[in-house]
Amino acid sequence: MHRPTTAIIDLESLAFNLRSLRQFIGAGTKFLAVVKANAYGHGAVECARRLSHEGIDWFGVSLPEEGVELRNAGISEPILVLGGFWPGQEELVIDYRLVPVVFNIEHASLLDRASARKGLVSNYHIKVDTGLGRIGVRCDQINEFAAALRQFPNIHLDGIMSHFAAADDPEEIEFAIAQMERFDRAVAQFREVGFDPAILDMANSAGTFAYPSSRHTMVRLGGLLYGLTDDVLPSDVARPKLKPVLSLKSRITQVKVVQMGETVGYGRTFKAKRTSRIASVPIGYGDGYPRSLSNNGRVIVKNEYSDIVGRISMDWTLIDVTDVPDAQPGTEVLLIGSSGDHLIKAEELGKLDETISYEITCGIGSRVRRIYI
Ligand SMILES: *Cc1c(COP(=O)(O)O)cnc(C)c1O
Repeated sequence: MHRPTTAIIDLESLAFNLRSLRQFIGAGTKFLAVVKANAYGHGAVECARRLSHEGIDWFGVSLPEEGVELRNAGISEPILVLGGFWPGQEELVIDYRLVPVVFNIEHASLLDRASARKGLVSNYHIKVDTGLGRIGVRCDQINEFAAALRQFPNIHLDGIMSHFAAADDPEEIEFAIAQMERFDRAVAQFREVGFDPAILDMANSAGTFAYPSSRHTMVRLGGLLYGLTDDVLPSDVARPKLKPVLSLKSRITQVKVVQMGETVGYGRTFKAKRTSRIASVPIGYGDGYPRSLSNNGRVIVKNEYSDIVGRISMDWTLIDVTDVPDAQPGTEVLLIGSSGDHLIKAEELGKLDETISYEITCGIGSRVRRIYI
């Protein structure tokens, strides 16, 4: 036996979302599934295996080590390393057939020399900074950068990419359009000096739907594949049906009767207004369940919502089951997921925690067992 706190990952829903997105976007656009940060907490290897089975074109990870994990699990699709590599990792990148994003000449040079030593030509993609201001070659430095790249015979420019700053925000349409125009200009500048990249991509989940013309040859989808939508897409864009992939469950450990006026939890922040039945649930901020939900969030017990009462601690959360008379030790508690017509989405937790759903799912800790169905 083990602690009953588990994240259930529904791989059927993941596959459904991919098919649904494909059907909506249409053939002709390649799909890169972003599985960085353990697939936003959903389990990179298991999700990648299923997406591979569904015929995904590319995978995207953040760091080379994440790509190595996928290769060791038998994933054979091309893998784009969105954050590039760190000096010293160039041989690892080559040995594991990872395609790094490059945004400075030093990295291009390291990759070129390592490729020469191994007697091969390595693919890489260039990241252009069109306005996010994070990694990427600035748009006013494309000409020099492209010229400098021509000195490397052992690397091949396979793709050019960029990343939106605010594709989800309808008030930032002008900026997003400016980013798309800068991207087009940058691509033209690379072409003028003889490069011929096969892949052009700039759209994340929000960009794919808010700006269809940003899809180019490939879209890079993370959040939508995992069925996260409310805080990902602008509210007014047409979208296909998508299903949440992750649910989070536990079981009641103990139920006790607390008299009116008694308090529960650290800091005594909850005082019972009536004779109450309070249940202890074995999950806490040590599992990534946000402490900010103290006296604020809710869970589902036997098809009823129950309030979180008192402070969430590292290992325990207290809930009020006064109105769920048959709640007892062993009764299932749904923290994220749906049951009957009751639903708690990761987006709801994100909002209560003043963050986004991605941080909620990414934050579900390694103490929480993942079960794949
Ligand atoms: C994380 C990431 C994505 C995916 O973004 P979503 O909003 O999850 O679709 C796409 N591109 C890059 C460069 C990223 O870092």
